[in-house]
Amino acid sequence: METKQFKAESKRLLDMMINSIYTHKEIFLRELISNASDAIDKLYFKSLTDDKVGLGKDDFAIWIRPDKDSRTLKISDNGIGMTAEELENNLGTIANSGSFKFKNENKLEEDNQIIGQFGVGFYSAFMIAKKVTVISKAYGSDKAYQWESEGADGYTVTEAEKKNVGTDIILELLDDTDDEQYSEFLDQYRIKGLIKKYSDYIRFPVKMEMTHSRPKEQSEEDKAANKPLEYEDYIEVETLNSMVPLWKKNKNELKEEDYKHFYTEKFLDYNEPIKYAHVKNEGVPSYNALLYIPSKAPFDYYSKEYEKGLQLYSNGILIMDKCADLLPDYFSFVKGLVDSEDLSLNISREMLQHDRQLKVIAKSIEKTVTGELKKMLKNEREKYEEFWNAFGLQLKFGVYSDFGMNKEKLQDLLLFTSSKEKKLVTLDEYVTAMREEQKYIYYATGESVARIEQLPQTELVKDNGYEILYLTDSVDEFAVKALRSYKDKEFKSVSADDLGLENTEKKEEIKAKEEENSDLLKDLASALDGKVTKVILSQRLKSHPVCLTSEGEISLEMEKVLNAMPTDQKVHAQRVLELNPEHEIFGKLKALGDSGDKDKLGKYAKLLYDQALLIESIAIEDPVEFSNLICELM
Ligand code: ADP
Repeated sequence: METKQFKAESKRLLDMMINSIYTHKEIFLRELISNASDAIDKLYFKSLTDDKVGLGKDDFAIWIRPDKDSRTLKISDNGIGMTAEELENNLGTIANSGSFKFKNENKLEEDNQIIGQFGVGFYSAFMIAKKVTVISKAYGSDKAYQWESEGADGYTVTEAEKKNVGTDIILELLDDTDDEQYSEFLDQYRIKGLIKKYSDYIRFPVKMEMTHSRPKEQSEEDKAANKPLEYEDYIEVETLNSMVPLWKKNKNELKEEDYKHFYTEKFLDYNEPIKYAHVKNEGVPSYNALLYIPSKAPFDYYSKEYEKGLQLYSNGILIMDKCADLLPDYFSFVKGLVDSEDLSLNISREMLQHDRQLKVIAKSIEKTVTGELKKMLKNEREKYEEFWNAFGLQLKFGVYSDFGMNKEKLQDLLLFTSSKEKKLVTLDEYVTAMREEQKYIYYATGESVARIEQLPQTELVKDNGYEILYLTDSVDEFAVKALRSYKDKEFKSVSADDLGLENTEKKEEIKAKEEENSDLLKDLASALDGKVTKVILSQRLKSHPVCLTSEGEISLEMEKVLNAMPTDQKVHAQRVLELNPEHEIFGKLKALGDSGDKDKLGKYAKLLYDQALLIESIAIEDPVEFSNLICELM
């Protein structure tokens, strides 16, 4: 018998498979099942017009038969089969298969990476088998043939016996090693799991005889004697796959529970999703998608460990478990899957990234998610706020990351707590409620709504009857800075120098007062020894004696956030201590200044500064000194 050599390029792919250190060796089963399903598709198609096929739709099946004694796994289909020539051409060379295409484009450079989670075809069998035998009888032929290979050395094709049309693939598994337990692929539960995982939606049944155990019937005497139960094995044929993908069904066939049940099962979340969408896109590329928004953030959501992505199917066959390119970062919470007939199964991760079809799909998915969120915000406010509590942070990150590139898309999805009723409002709601003369969208930052409420800096704005947005997340101020404005209204911190509220008369008055007290203000600043850039008289304070603000780009809140990050570089806001010229305390300071008691004045300065820090929830440098000073002055 003549042993034939594989064609050069097939040999290279084969070598790659045999020497693969790839961890997902299990995908071989997906590949063989997918081939079997294609072969059945072809014969099924014929059967529709050709009575001679003699098989009806329900007769088609794929069988899996593990045999521990011979260490073989057999995969059989009653599809179209292969002639001797086809065995030769299809399995002796890869020239006809998709594997060849991907191989050529990637030049086998990053072998193991390429094997990845993608279609690698028939040859993947050599990742787990030392010998592969294919016995096939083509439709319309009365002879069967056997193709056999132990890998790189070549293959033989000989005549064989086979009754029915179709193909048997017999894999003789590699010996187990310390690292690899190939015999796991003989375990019925492992096989069942793999079919569920990769081939659940194959259109034809994948069947296997499964051995289960049950208690034997006990005689009355044994029962009375409380004898332990005896067990016996029995065999049952099971269909391992569910066959029809939910997402390919008509929407009107499906109920809300179906979608929700599918979600909790598939994505292992015991909370029901807050929203789902079933997309059927008939355009180019055509695709079906099921998209889910979870109701709660996974515990690792805001950590590096969390991986975004949708499952990607090519015509019902899973090709990637988490395709990250289908989701922008700001929608990384979306779970679900995409199934497209227009994607090649044999595609590498690198190629996928550049795939035009995939980009088009990603764009359209983003639109769908945006649309769903907007609808929810408009029609189901309570639900939206629940969503916002789980994932709002991510949207705010999205506003300022990538240099604010996506802010326009996201700004109408944002919510902030407003000072008016302490309720969440959209920017649009804020702007719509603005007074006619109001120039800015005001915001204040702090660690909680309660804390911000008490900030002296908010007094003037509130006194004017204006609403303030309370920013309580560390990312908030960065997001607002990235937005800069909304509907032509600029954002303005209540701590900003110019709030656009001060009347000129008062301004002049304060200016004059500052000049009058310039020595005092200088003395106070120098007592604070570089902690503040200056001490000024405030226009925004009403009832409080003192507050801390900042000049320049970096606010106190941003300083807190940036310095909490694990880098060596620390930033400093330029602090300004503002005194309320109308407050009693200011009179005290003036009197002290006049008396020339610089020592005491210095102590007052320190106290006021520390008070201002406490109001801002910034830790004071020396609490003991603070306490001592209070005691002393009391
Ligand atoms: P691909 O499936 O990407 O074409 P493969 O290497 O998996 O590449 O298979 C090569 C070819 O061998 C297939 O295109 C098909 O024509 C043939 N083939 C493989 N398995 C079967 C089968 N079970 N029945 C009939 N033909 C098959």
